[in-house]
Amino acid sequence: MATKKTKTQKTELFQQETGWEKLTAADNVAMEKYCQDYISFLSKAKTERRAHDIALALAQKAGFRNLDDAKTLKPGDKVYRSCYGKTLFLAVIGKTPLEQGLNLVGAHIDSPRLDVKPRPLFEDSTLAYLDTRYYGGIKIYQWLTLPLALYGVIVKKDGSKVEVAIGDEPGDPVFMCTDLLPHLDRDQDATTVGKAFNGEKLNLLVGSRPVDKANDDKEVKDKTKLRILQLLKEKYGVEETDFASAELEIVPAGPARELGLDRSMVIGYGQDDRVCAYGALRAILDAKGVPSRTRATVICDKEEIGSYGNTGMDSAFIENSVAELVAHSTGGYNELFVRRALANSSMLSADVSALHDPMYADVSSPNNMAKMNCGIAICKYTGRSGKGGASDASAEFLAQVRRVFDEAGVAWQMSELGRVDCGGGGTIALYLARYGMNVLDCGVGLLCMHAPHEVAGKFDIYMGYRAYKAFFEA
Ligand code: MN
Ligand code: MN
Repeated sequence: MATKKTKTQKTELFQQETGWEKLTAADNVAMEKYCQDYISFLSKAKTERRAHDIALALAQKAGFRNLDDAKTLKPGDKVYRSCYGKTLFLAVIGKTPLEQGLNLVGAHIDSPRLDVKPRPLFEDSTLAYLDTRYYGGIKIYQWLTLPLALYGVIVKKDGSKVEVAIGDEPGDPVFMCTDLLPHLDRDQDATTVGKAFNGEKLNLLVGSRPVDKANDDKEVKDKTKLRILQLLKEKYGVEETDFASAELEIVPAGPARELGLDRSMVIGYGQDDRVCAYGALRAILDAKGVPSRTRATVICDKEEIGSYGNTGMDSAFIENSVAELVAHSTGGYNELFVRRALANSSMLSADVSALHDPMYADVSSPNNMAKMNCGIAICKYTGRSGKGGASDASAEFLAQVRRVFDEAGVAWQMSELGRVDCGGGGTIALYLARYGMNVLDCGVGLLCMHAPHEVAGKFDIYMGYRAYKAFFEA
């Protein structure tokens, strides 16, 4: 008797491939082009204000107009709304009524840095310094002995605004925070990293030459500081008290670059989270057709210090922007429609993930950590310890998103923020989830997150853009 052949169902192992195996020749060309554009953006967008301005200029060039000037909105219309020049909302109106929800991608454009204090200038032993307070989670020692640039605004009492940008143009001087020489660091060496470096010592060296003899006022004690003030007056017309109404940010000097002999990575300041912000921006600019659901990108400020304040995602900015959309769409304003529009929305919280770093494998979760150049990292939950503070995305929404990614050929991988109980972090996800919308964290993986120079893989950078675009076009 012959054995009857039974048809067995094939069980597939879930194998993580690297992105390179999936990359077609055409995709390779598109990836390299996209990454060159990104490197140029990252080199210029050194602060949230500059990232906002560059994004707004690109949007205006692509036909986005100010939502505050819009009378009525119809499908296909492109609008923007700016929040104090630091947070930007972009929308392309869809065919379905807004109350059925939007497809939203949100990223942040503020990055860890040193902020100049309101009364910063002082002299010690003939050296002049700017006193700073760090912004966001930094490892203090990483910011020592680096060439640093100074960016921001000084607003004078009459309301006039002076733009400051020193350190990135050819011929510009740069600045630095000093560190102890190894010859004299025996005490520093014997203590812990946390004790050896303290934030109050992050003072920016800005001068060492006293006022000229001709201008010397014998009464003045701090002659180096006085000369710095004279130079600031000459260049910007500002007085020492004008620092009180200034926002000056100290960031690493120099452009973003390709990294590696094979040029497969990008090194640069502020990739958390300008890598996802640029992807979210380019995705809404490049996504094809008049959408079914309204598309929106928001690139926001203040994520690194908790999303508070009127330019952070804890503010009413998103709610007000959606209310404006509803008010100007056919059907007129209806508060219930605003609530429904928000609750029925789907959102990708586009923020960076920590990559598995083989040099620090002891804090990795072996099978649940994103790996370099394996695709966009999906983080179902962030938080610390037992998912503390996480906005845990639903399995149902995650299934929808991975289907969209698969259908568009987007390489993705699941990721957690490291080994259990090693630390943690958060994103803007929870501030949007409070409206009832589905929110999922997904973004580009980084090595050395929050360091003055962070590293991302080119394949992942490109897949971030492709993922957000697929989400808009779905
Ligand atoms: Mn981030
Ligand atoms: Mn961050």
